[in-house]
Amino acid sequence: MAEKFDVIVIGGGPGGYVSAIRAAQLGLKTACIDMYSDRDGKASPGGTCLNVGCIPSKALLDSSKHFHHLQHDFSAHGISVKDAGIDVPTMIARKDGVVKKLTGGVSQLLKGNKVAFYHGKGRLKAGRQVEVSPADGGEAVQLEADNVILASGSVPIQIPNVAVDGEFIVDNVGALDFDHVPENLGVIGAGVIGLELGSVWSRLGSKVTLLEALPDFLAMADKDVSKQAAREFKKQGLDVRLGAMVKGAEVSKGKVNVTVEDAKGASKHSFDRLLVSVGRKPYTDGLLAEDSGVRLTDRGQIDVDAQSKTSAPGVWAIGDCVRGPMLAHKASEEGMAVAELIAGKPAHIHFDTVPWVVYTDPEIAWVGKTEQELEAAGASYRAGSFPFAANGRALAGGHPAGMVKILADSETDEILGVHIFGANASELIAECVVAMEFQGSSEDLARIIHAHPTLSEAVHEAALHLDGRAIHRGN
Ligand code: FAD
Ligand code: NAD
Repeated sequence: MAEKFDVIVIGGGPGGYVSAIRAAQLGLKTACIDMYSDRDGKASPGGTCLNVGCIPSKALLDSSKHFHHLQHDFSAHGISVKDAGIDVPTMIARKDGVVKKLTGGVSQLLKGNKVAFYHGKGRLKAGRQVEVSPADGGEAVQLEADNVILASGSVPIQIPNVAVDGEFIVDNVGALDFDHVPENLGVIGAGVIGLELGSVWSRLGSKVTLLEALPDFLAMADKDVSKQAAREFKKQGLDVRLGAMVKGAEVSKGKVNVTVEDAKGASKHSFDRLLVSVGRKPYTDGLLAEDSGVRLTDRGQIDVDAQSKTSAPGVWAIGDCVRGPMLAHKASEEGMAVAELIAGKPAHIHFDTVPWVVYTDPEIAWVGKTEQELEAAGASYRAGSFPFAANGRALAGGHPAGMVKILADSETDEILGVHIFGANASELIAECVVAMEFQGSSEDLARIIHAHPTLSEAVHEAALHLDGRAIHRGN
């Protein structure tokens, strides 16, 4: 007979494990099923984010940033180091250690909250029956629940004529595990993964070329940020080719030969390694039995309403497998909201205030609307900005690049968007998200006392600038 739960969560990423823990905290008998296995075949909950996404990429970004600063920036501080070197296997082992610590932590949290964990593949059938095929090949287990939360995540998109082999042509998984610094690294797609992982290997010495199909660089970011970022990244040695559509790639004699089409016609490029980072797509393979009652959209996402309800009663879906940005914090917030709705509590997600961060150096972070979105909508707005070059803490720390830009409604002064390009932008954006959540105005930010000397004073000054009263820049 099938074991009965109040809630079964399929997928143990930042969407799934968070919703399972929250459901258990609310007193619901909860199970979480995740099929991810580490190299030893052991369960490794945490999904893409902890295993092959957010966390390992940030570990390598931090390691490579130290190496880059050591080589390029320390001398200005009077610090000299002889024979600086990078031991790639040690760097990768450190990254693996961070991942192991965090995935082990998730296992402990699930256990501590009395969530029943199943290591295997879950399949939803009619009537919220769930079949688990254990990862160790054991006999299938039958479960059932009043509510099922689908949190199966996403996988990289593949493009025609470019076969990922995991060695010469890789996706995010392979690019997090190179055993040496490739001399020449090609990257298809100058999006978030391309820029982050391209930066890692560029800082360690690779000559990195990013081939981007679109004519504009980082089109989803505010136009002033993408302009400044393009300039900075070029100075750092990232070679971004815009309007370059990759048509195919083949491996021959240890090299990857790539065919690219741009305005000038077709050309060939040769690299030691090629990273394919052209976006991700929802993963639902084998998740839904024919009679599950769950509908997919024409883009392959699980179709949900504003509260994450699917077309099948009592079945919810969250995270990368549904509409909205593919971000870990968005998945987690949806997971918590669904657990609370199941427990009969109110819950709501403001998709307008989901922050975005790109962990380049300097970092890019934003929340709300870009200036080009406001222009296209015919909105009436005012803009204020402040360069980090005029911020004392940024200069003291050696981070003068970038700026803060705030957009607010011309009439009500409500903040409509904040865009930051600069050191610690990932942390600075938090106060702007809070301000927007409270429907704050630029005047609110301008009247709040910011500690001196901090980078956050640039947010303060940008808000003052919006009203023509910045102190440390000409208005
Ligand atoms: P996932 O994390 O993909 O988890 C889904 C889990 O479900 C997986 O473990 C999968 O194996 C399992 N699963 C799937 N189907 C089944 C099934 N039928 N049965 C059992 N288990 C199943 N986002 C950020 O916010 N910040 C970042 O810095 C960031 N960096 C990233 C860097 C990289 C290189 C990549 C690839 C992604 C990054 N992301 C980042 C995106 C982030 O990883 C995802 O948005 C997030 O992991 C989505 O969470 P999820 O729970 O929806 O899905
Ligand atoms: P992306 O959508 O950010 O960028 C993909 C890029 O590839 C696009 O600019 C697209 O125009 C380009 N492209 C597509 N086909 C091409 C072709 N044939 N030739 C050349 N260029 C081509 O996707 P990604 O970088 O793969 O990342 C996937 C998702 O993972 C992101 O959208 C984001 O949701 C998530 N992510 C988030 C973070 C973060 O929050 N810091 C980090 C990494 C990944």
